[in-house]
Amino acid sequence: MLDPILALGARVERLEGLDAAGRPVMKMSYAHWRPGAFGLGVHRASLFGVLHDAARQAGLEIRTGAEITAIEDFGEPRLRDRVGRVHGPFDLVVAADGAASPMRELVRPRARSPVYPWGAVWANATDMEGRFAGALHQRYDRASTMIGVLPIGAGPDGERDLVSFFWSLRVDRMTDFFAGDLRAWGAEVARLWPEASAVVAQLENPERFSRAVYRNVVAGGWSRGPFLLIGDAAHGTSPQLGQGANLGLIDAVELAARVPAPDRIAGYERARRLQTGPYQLMSRALTPLFQSGGWLGPLVRRYLFAPLSQAPGLRRIAAIVLTGVFRLGPTPKGLRP
Ligand SMILES: Cc1cc2nc3c(=O)[nH]c(=O)nc-3n(C[C@H](O)[C@H](O)[C@H](O)COP(=O)(O)OP(=O)(O)OC[C@H]3O[C@@H](n4cnc5c(N)ncnc54)[C@H](O)[C@@H]3O)c2cc1C
Repeated sequence: MLDPILALGARVERLEGLDAAGRPVMKMSYAHWRPGAFGLGVHRASLFGVLHDAARQAGLEIRTGAEITAIEDFGEPRLRDRVGRVHGPFDLVVAADGAASPMRELVRPRARSPVYPWGAVWANATDMEGRFAGALHQRYDRASTMIGVLPIGAGPDGERDLVSFFWSLRVDRMTDFFAGDLRAWGAEVARLWPEASAVVAQLENPERFSRAVYRNVVAGGWSRGPFLLIGDAAHGTSPQLGQGANLGLIDAVELAARVPAPDRIAGYERARRLQTGPYQLMSRALTPLFQSGGWLGPLVRRYLFAPLSQAPGLRRIAAIVLTGVFRLGPTPKGLRP
């Protein structure tokens, strides 16, 4: 799937985050991990499209419009959807139904998934002048405002040079944001970040925005008999490190490698937690530094985080984390880059 997704996405070489005074808070480059390494910003529709094409080519049967609401049978797995249809029996049920997973409630009733008080609104726009090409750009104002622009390449309707714009926001202020004066908000963003004004000027209609809330998923175990949670359903967290989709894709690759031998599925969760555990922990620790509104976050960022992420040696570790390949223990053979 690499070639089609490379053709649709935008190369991202580095992450550049500055505070309101223009001081660097984060400056990381994928090349600090390995020369020539890069990230790929993609539109969700591009990622879904490429995965969908591959599934079709593999001859998979896809049933749409089946919102699963109940497990009909745990022993011989069968699922019931909202209109009462029963699906199955299956050998294995892999639930990839996201951070608010209804399947998780059925499979692991004691799991917790509290919603973070901070979320974001985000929208796609066109970067006509290529101002943001090549990097994820972020701006931070105290620990209350975080703005970002990520190049994502092509859109589903043939748009080119798209960027994804996001603005951090307390969840309890989202309704006010959408009811408010987006022009005045745009002027505030342009004051904080003049380079982003051409992007923000395209976002005067609230319908352009999506809301994002994050959950900190603590599922206990990820499975019960032949039911298995993957992706955000198993280990959702805040997108502070931008790894959720990456981790979900790696979940799928590692699971697929084990599926032909059902006894090996037992070790899947243990192996995956060596990677998802540290990322959940780091995201949880970092999010308040950027979004809590407290006074300590900006100081920690400026005097600890910024110098540490630049120190030789630590710079490489920061790049490994940013790349998404960090894990405790060895990387499985088929996944070694
Ligand atoms: C603002 C923001 C920025 C992000 N940035 C990044 C980034 O830069 N890099 C990165 O790697 N990740 C990022 N993420 C995280 C990433 O989006 C998620 O981790 C990823 O989408 C999780 O994939 P998933 O397949 O597990 O779940 P989802 O993408 O949430 O998909 C779940 C699917 O299950 C379906 N579903 C739900 N309930 C049911 C049901 N009952 N029956 C049937 N289907 C159901 C849903 O309709 C949905 O299609 C970001 C997230 C946010 C919010």
